[in-house]
Amino acid sequence: MSQPRTKPPAAGERPAELASLVAELEPMLQRLRLTGMCEQLDNLLDDAARHQMTLREALAWLCAAEVSRKDRSRFEMAMRMARFPCVRTLEGFEFEAQPSIDPGVIRELASCRWIANGDNLVLLGPPGVGKTHLEVALGREAIRLGHSVLFCTAAELIANLTRAQQQGDLARALSTYGKPKLLIIDELGYLPLEHQAAYLFFQLISRRYEQGSVLISSNRAVTEWGEVFGDQVVATAILDRLLHHSQVLTIRGDSYRLKEKRRSGLIRPVAGSSLAGGGVVPPPPPAKEV
Ligand code: ADP
Ligand code: MG
Repeated sequence: MSQPRTKPPAAGERPAELASLVAELEPMLQRLRLTGMCEQLDNLLDDAARHQMTLREALAWLCAAEVSRKDRSRFEMAMRMARFPCVRTLEGFEFEAQPSIDPGVIRELASCRWIANGDNLVLLGPPGVGKTHLEVALGREAIRLGHSVLFCTAAELIANLTRAQQQGDLARALSTYGKPKLLIIDELGYLPLEHQAAYLFFQLISRRYEQGSVLISSNRAVTEWGEVFGDQVVATAILDRLLHHSQVLTIRGDSYRLKEKRRSGLIRPVAGSSLAGGGVVPPPPPAKEV
């Protein structure tokens, strides 16, 4: 470790090495990893001079720039680590298009108190009603509030756990999925699981039980999860842990994607919809040119 370069000056005396220290200001800021201060140094010092800041105010001004830069890069890094499949925000969610969702409930979820408490959230609904959108948007809020998040689809999760088990590396894989404060598992139920896969899923849910939150979405009602897991006993054990401290939101209605197409007149609307999804009548075939 290098020796300190300056001795504290005696009272009233100007430090002798001030000029060389100023010349080294930027390398020192870099060495201290104060990147925000370093990058904006001239602007920040100009601001301080223009507003006639005291030394304490100027120091606070510089530190605020550094804190904001560090927060931004922490956010960007956590967003990359979360592996979201797309960019979606709560601001971009049209609540008018989805009357079965109470905006107050989503606002409360966005406060992430449930994540701080290690509770779970289950989003149910047919395809296209905004489950993935809400998962990504809530995950983003969680990261903004300092929680670690990992997003995966159920198929990806099961494939990774199965591969890890075959390679004798299950403990590490379970720890990867066990660590984040919020694990988002998208699209449970599109494919039924083999018994061994269901048991791996159970191991993961048990591991996270009362440790970290799980946000899980499915197109199948909870009563059908016995079929999804191919085993009622394993399904009950999973649901028992998952639902113990949890909130279940069921989204009803038609697919947003199809609504958009309907707005543009590409398909005709049909009455009635359920968790299994509203029916869709395809447009009549275009008239043949003769
Ligand atoms: P699901 O996961 O339920 O199948 P998605 O979240 O993938 O549905 O939604 C399908 C598409 O429609 C996405 O691009 C999503 O952003 C958009 N979408 C769904 N619901 C809404 C909504 N209420 N407001 C804005 N966009 C929406
Ligand atoms: Mg989806």
